[in-house]
Amino acid sequence: MTDIKELGLERLKELLKKWGEPDFHARQIFSWIYKRGVKDFGGMSDLPASLREKLKENFYLFDLRLDRVFESLDGTKKLILALGDDNIIEAAVIPAPSRVTGCVSTQVGCKFACRFCASGIPQFKRNLSSAEILDEVSYLKENSLPEKLTHLVFMGMGEPLDNYDNVIKAIRIINSPQGFNIGARKITISTCGIIPGIKRLSDEGLQVELSVSLHSTDEEIRSSLMPINKKYPLKELISACRQYIEKTNRQITFEYVLIQGVNSDLKDTEKTAKMLKGLNCKVNLIPANTIKELNIEPPNKPAILFFKDSLVKRGLNVTLRKPRGQDINAACGQLRLGYVKK
Ligand code: SAH
Repeated sequence: MTDIKELGLERLKELLKKWGEPDFHARQIFSWIYKRGVKDFGGMSDLPASLREKLKENFYLFDLRLDRVFESLDGTKKLILALGDDNIIEAAVIPAPSRVTGCVSTQVGCKFACRFCASGIPQFKRNLSSAEILDEVSYLKENSLPEKLTHLVFMGMGEPLDNYDNVIKAIRIINSPQGFNIGARKITISTCGIIPGIKRLSDEGLQVELSVSLHSTDEEIRSSLMPINKKYPLKELISACRQYIEKTNRQITFEYVLIQGVNSDLKDTEKTAKMLKGLNCKVNLIPANTIKELNIEPPNKPAILFFKDSLVKRGLNVTLRKPRGQDINAACGQLRLGYVKK
């Protein structure tokens, strides 16, 4: 059996036609799933009973189960979600005064083993299907109430551009007015730098935001932090980013995690300014979240501010991200498997 969320609106209409049912039921079904969040066909009370039965015989709805919610003192929530095959993923709801952001995982585990990131500690298991990603968003939406879920960042576990087709398929439904209706510009895809994925994305005609995890502008340091730099080196990555910006006319955000003793010296600011000069981009500095097993710590506050000011003085557009949800391990790079039920 298939999860019905694998079907977009058009395919659902085609199916109903084949079954001899009027196609307006497709919109009703979409509305029950994405707007009202029902988790079984029986709850779709304005559909004929015979159609509900037929749907139940042919599809399933909602394979993810919310196992547990942790809430941080700052209001951030971490959701532990169990998949149908008992794998576990994590997602987060991050409220701020003018927005509520959901942080979405795209894979169980991660292949890319960035040195500072806890998501890579467990072994990569598998990609999430688009239906599982959509289930995740449903739970994020429910757990942002009474506020509205306004933004999504694909910055949870996994590498979105390594699960390209499922992620884009899910985003099209998240974005569509009959689906979750979240504007493309409020959706951010974050990548460790998968060049073919960046190229494909530039042809997708989607107005999503692209973040590229940069973390160093020195080939050697970046390779030591992010093994993917050996396959897709900085020089080629920046050139792919330049092409993306030219083709889409969009800005790219470069994420830069500041790690004590690794990538946050004066010479790093000089190199970064030189490499990004003239690109339509923003640099988002993230003081590293401490990951004990990985020996990762942020520089001290004055060093962080010095790094920021040096980039600003060199003409870059820079923001500094405030860490959220640290007390429940829901901060960047802390979403991971290995959660044990208590
Ligand atoms: N694979 C994607 C998305 C997941 S990671 C990517 O690499 O972009 C989301 C963001 O969290 C990335 O920018 C990542 O580098 C960052 N991150 C990972 N570990 C971190 C840590 N310990 N402290 C702060 N940010 C971290």
